[in-house]
Amino acid sequence: MVKSLTTADRFSPADIPSSGLAARIGSSAIRDLLALTERPDVLSLAGGMPSPASFPVDAIALAAATILDQEGPDALQYAPTEGFAPLRSWIAARHPVTADPDQVLITNGSQQALELAARVASGPGDAVVMSDPGYIGAIQAFRSAGVELVGIPGDRGGLRVDLLADRLAGGLRPRLVYVVANFDNPTGATLTAERRHELARLADRYGFVILDDDPYGQLRWAGEAPAPLATLTDRVVTLGTTSKVLSPGLRVGWAVGPRTLVRELAVVKQSADLHTSSLSQRIAHEVLTRPGFLEHHLDRLRDSYKRHGRALAEALRCHLGGRLTFEEPDGGMFIWGRLREGGDASVLLPMAVERGVAFVPGAAFQVGAGPDHRSWLRLSFATAEAADLGEAARRLARAVASMEADVLELGPG
Ligand code: PMP
Repeated sequence: MVKSLTTADRFSPADIPSSGLAARIGSSAIRDLLALTERPDVLSLAGGMPSPASFPVDAIALAAATILDQEGPDALQYAPTEGFAPLRSWIAARHPVTADPDQVLITNGSQQALELAARVASGPGDAVVMSDPGYIGAIQAFRSAGVELVGIPGDRGGLRVDLLADRLAGGLRPRLVYVVANFDNPTGATLTAERRHELARLADRYGFVILDDDPYGQLRWAGEAPAPLATLTDRVVTLGTTSKVLSPGLRVGWAVGPRTLVRELAVVKQSADLHTSSLSQRIAHEVLTRPGFLEHHLDRLRDSYKRHGRALAEALRCHLGGRLTFEEPDGGMFIWGRLREGGDASVLLPMAVERGVAFVPGAAFQVGAGPDHRSWLRLSFATAEAADLGEAARRLARAVASMEADVLELGPG
């Protein structure tokens, strides 16, 4: 007799084979957390999402209407993998060193550029270096490519290039060194000018490619930006994106680098998704090139993030005092703070959510087997309303006080 399947059997059979790739990549702790933070009673300092109030909705609506009116079906057709030519030219012209449009590949957000670079510039088993702690999306992309991921500690000056130099002298031969040189995720650190020069020198000497992922460079509101890595060596692939400047939902990012490598990235992209949305690329181009728009928009954005960053820093100092140490940022979206001796941010998180505030525990950004980041937390000041940041810090302070009281009660051991 044929056994009839129940609905549950049909939708969750136990024996569908898989490569195990998803398990090896691991689900992003941030993605898993986003579900939690969608609770209306939780003030979220967790996701690295830009402020929705900053999205230029009117400019995007006008651009979409203009494009569809003037170009109609052309804007909705399949298109070349490399990207929309006028957008590639605009990006090439803004690159800090002379670049041709054919050195630019438009990607589905910079995350795709990262994933393509991980697979094209390195292969399974090749060593790839990144700072530890590091961006979760990069850790996932590198794991997906099957590389041997080598975490090198970072500090307030970014990747410890001196430690990388030691490892290179000891025989390490990476194909790629990944950095977020401006306002790193999660630490907010900017790679110092000296370290940039040294990293470029090492790239030339040892022949690796520097993958310089730069979503936050334009969000600097104080201090001087050190020279971009691309001006120091030509062994650099620079990644950019409209996500933090216009809107992440457009999914328009890019890679700029040596011609031969960019051509290879394009071939692999073709097999992944044919091309980035024709309509999104045109919208991004139309908005970015509207006379006067970008300068004005960036000024407002920096101003707003500066207010947010300062408000959160001030509230943390006021409500947490010495219980959390951090450096006030000059840009970007994040404050990277450290709990006092014995504090564990993963233990703190459920206590914080219970009190209506969320963040990402440092352990989520662990790259390798180096020193752990359990006492650290990443706080994003970008998404929440500025007026809510004081209350968020107050709730966090209550959770920290409660965690410290628990530790005292349990005593050592
Ligand atoms: N790199 C870094 C360092 C990021 O923080 C992010 C977004 N969180 C990305 C890349 C991906 O950005 P997108 O794909 O939206 O351009």
